[in-house]
Amino acid sequence: REGDRERIDYVFKVVVIGDSAVGKSQILSRFTKNEFCFDSKSTIGVEFQTRTVTINSKLIKAQIWDTAGQERYRAVTSAYYRGALGAMLVYDITKRQTFDHVARWVEELRAHADSSIVIMLIGNKSDLADLRAVPTEHAVEFAEDQGLFFSETSALRGDNVETAFLKLLEEIYGAVT
Ligand code: GDP
Ligand code: MG
Repeated sequence: REGDRERIDYVFKVVVIGDSAVGKSQILSRFTKNEFCFDSKSTIGVEFQTRTVTINSKLIKAQIWDTAGQERYRAVTSAYYRGALGAMLVYDITKRQTFDHVARWVEELRAHADSSIVIMLIGNKSDLADLRAVPTEHAVEFAEDQGLFFSETSALRGDNVETAFLKLLEEIYGAVT
């Protein structure tokens, strides 16, 4: 344990935000534990999980924060955003409303987080292709317009979750070094 801690080069705080039930907790669980929990309860209390990755031969500990089921607009406190270098902003590709709210979440980040925060827009539940309500091109356009990175993921299948987190962490690394 002590040895592990000494070898860490950087700790990056990342927050996961977005409407309720879009899959934030499952994405986090997929990235940190490679698990998907079919009967997961909604998150109680702010908590974070960590995973250490190597970028440019440096050990980076990602400290990833999950909301406390406080996904209502403006319910997430500024303490949650404090010190965050990255954000995963998640919507559900099968629920149009969760994408319509993305602009509000970006406003929240601009208001409460550091101006240099790296933001990755995530369209989750890509496994539910038949139920898709948000065309990929709309999200690509929005992301380009707002200067966000973008990926579609499936926490259920594991598709793109690792890639999206690594991209975010690499961008943060590039920004802080
Ligand atoms: P949160 O409220 O944003 O943290 O959402 P959860 O992670 O609790 O997930 C909400 C619901 O969506 C749960 O029933 C999950 O099993 C389901 N879910 C999450 N990710 C996926 C996914 O990638 N595909 C599918 N089909 N369901 C998912
Ligand atoms: Mg949750």
